[in-house]
Amino acid sequence: MAQILVGTDKADKNAETRRRGRQMRATNGAFAQSYAEARARFLAAAEAAGARLTSEAHPLRGPDGGALAIDTAFIGPADAPKLLAMTSGTHGIEGYTGSAIQSKLLEEGLGERLPADTALLFIHAVNPWGFAHGRRVNEDNIDLNRNFAAPPFPENAGYALLHNALVPREWTEETRAKSRAAQSEFIRTHGLGAFVAALSTGQYTHPDGLFYGGRDPSWSNRVMRGIFEREFLTRQTLAFIDIHTGLGERGAGELLCTEAPGHPVFELGVKWMGPDVRSTSAGTSVSADVRGTMKGALIDLLASDGKQRQTMAISIEYGTVPQDRVGAALQADNWLYRHGDPESPQGREIAREMRAVFLVEEADWAETIHEQAARHVDNALKGLASS
Ligand SMILES: [Zn+2]
Repeated sequence: MAQILVGTDKADKNAETRRRGRQMRATNGAFAQSYAEARARFLAAAEAAGARLTSEAHPLRGPDGGALAIDTAFIGPADAPKLLAMTSGTHGIEGYTGSAIQSKLLEEGLGERLPADTALLFIHAVNPWGFAHGRRVNEDNIDLNRNFAAPPFPENAGYALLHNALVPREWTEETRAKSRAAQSEFIRTHGLGAFVAALSTGQYTHPDGLFYGGRDPSWSNRVMRGIFEREFLTRQTLAFIDIHTGLGERGAGELLCTEAPGHPVFELGVKWMGPDVRSTSAGTSVSADVRGTMKGALIDLLASDGKQRQTMAISIEYGTVPQDRVGAALQADNWLYRHGDPESPQGREIAREMRAVFLVEEADWAETIHEQAARHVDNALKGLASS
């Protein structure tokens, strides 16, 4: 499993280059080619770091017939009052980035740097089915980061207006042009902000549509709530980081908090992670004001038992390619699983594009996301130590 990734330049004997080569592994950033490969690297890194591993088996299989699971790696005292937690793959395919970050941090000895009162919990592939199938949604076409809402579900009248244009029966040049025209018309009539809100805040009325939150807790939701109750409620101070990709400028990592300025979780985020923390509910983020997020559910849970805690909970959103390209890829992916054939040449092309819009396989992008993640983890650890 150590040979999952390929070293760089065999001809160059320079030790520094070889060291850098081991760090970067390859000029494409050396991301895994499959969920199974990413999972194997994570499990090997966790085992080598002496982590306590758990695995929640998913009822379905990957496209290769392989097993799917939410894996956790825990390092430190079971009763540690402080916890640093990181999740990957809440949005399936975005897990290539989060998984690589988790594995690299473990491989570079993060577990050895923990203070005696602090434990680390890495949760790998929150949405393993989507990760394995190269999709952002889960097995039920649910956007997991909209699935933690409780009834009454948020209304989204704008989405209903857009739905037919977003999910055409055929996926051709002609239908794509019609869809783009309908979206432009919506923006002209209602404004860009209303369009982004209609499209991406989540909707609970069209199970076959985009950004569908689902009306029942999905498998991943139930598993994650169990993990939160077991591993988070017993702590006094928490830092929680959920890794995402696909929003924002290429390579930029935005720190997102669901809470607004003034809320203790937002303020602790700024105190520990710096002034760049953005609030999705205050409208200062690249993300819309999303409802039913996993992070929001965790914050609610931690506030529910009346205990005094310090909670820092953010997402990091790494930018990849322009938003219209991401949107078109999501539409194509939605069409493919409703009406198309994932094994056809067109299906494979759509899958390649999905990977390309959520993962930039270039060395400089890999370098910057790893550098930023390491810095953010250091800041979170400093914050935990100071509390
Ligand atoms: Zn995401």
